[in-house]
Amino acid sequence: MVLRTSYSFEFFPPKDVEGEERLWAAIEGLKSIAPDFVSVTYGAGGSTRDRSIRIAQEITKRTGISTVAHLTCVGSTRDELIAILHSYKEAGITSILALRGDPTGGPSAPWTPTPGGFNHADELVQLADEFGGFTIGVAAFPDGHPASNGDFDKDVDVLIRKEELGATFATTQFFFEVKQYTQLVEALATRGSRLVIIPGILPVTNVKLLHRMAELGGTPIPRHIADAFAKVENDPHAVRALGVEIATSLCRDLLAAGAPGLHFYTMNSSTATQEIYRKLNDAQ
Ligand SMILES: Cc1cc2nc3c(=O)[nH]c(=O)nc-3n(C[C@H](O)[C@H](O)[C@H](O)COP(=O)(O)OP(=O)(O)OC[C@H]3O[C@@H](n4cnc5c(N)ncnc54)[C@H](O)[C@@H]3O)c2cc1C
Repeated sequence: MVLRTSYSFEFFPPKDVEGEERLWAAIEGLKSIAPDFVSVTYGAGGSTRDRSIRIAQEITKRTGISTVAHLTCVGSTRDELIAILHSYKEAGITSILALRGDPTGGPSAPWTPTPGGFNHADELVQLADEFGGFTIGVAAFPDGHPASNGDFDKDVDVLIRKEELGATFATTQFFFEVKQYTQLVEALATRGSRLVIIPGILPVTNVKLLHRMAELGGTPIPRHIADAFAKVENDPHAVRALGVEIATSLCRDLLAAGAPGLHFYTMNSSTATQEIYRKLNDAQ
């Protein structure tokens, strides 16, 4: 049996009218790929809550594509999280990505839970499962969670616990080395996990943004990749071409290693992702 590769795209809720036009143009550009789902992020401290819900709801209404709405524990009590789950359900959202969210000082800063709220994402997974009606996804970190200090076994334990509490899939932080992904997938499989791990791909189109995102997400940039980008960083066309080449090669290696699908961090733009998709499919 040949299983079809799933394609999915992540978007963030735009701040203004121009941003929204850009988002719809990106979705229009990616529609022909017939994505399996798109996901919509949730801003720090719930700052984008209403926009996240509206955009997720409208994507499904306009395109028929199912959406995964992200939800974090930052700044919300348990009762407030229940109220948000109600509003997701009323908006017709049937899948969520249950996250803890980052501390205000960044991903490696000390975490302080909101009084009456949750300490970790596993509690949100449990709440969403008890609430019912949602397919639940979680975050996975092939290079290790930035707050886990390299404790790979702990990251695996956390994913297993989330699966036991009701999660069925995970999308990963972006990364550059396929062995980081396979190591995580194999460690989970050894423990009997059936969690579907969808690798997250960042098509790099801007070197400064790459460094900022890598720092925030705790993703190491391998030396040869950092050097290659440094050589062309003042030439936007060359950066984009290199970003597409690196991402395409990673996607090919991941699919060859058995990845069930590819999840693209689109940054609300479609062209680089479309180009990677064409290259992957032209070669088949
Ligand atoms: C695919 C993806 C999408 C994302 N989308 C968003 C978004 O939309 N909005 C946003 O604000 N952020 C988002 N993030 C960032 C995410 O919120 C942060 O990475 C956050 O620091 C961790 O979230 P988590 O769900 O993994 O937390 P947790 O699972 O709570 O893990 C955080 C740390 O605590 C440890 N830990 C977990 N459970 C336990 C436990 N029971 N006991 C002890 N230690 C534990 C873990 O090992 C880890 O070190 C996303 C990340 C990814 C990978």
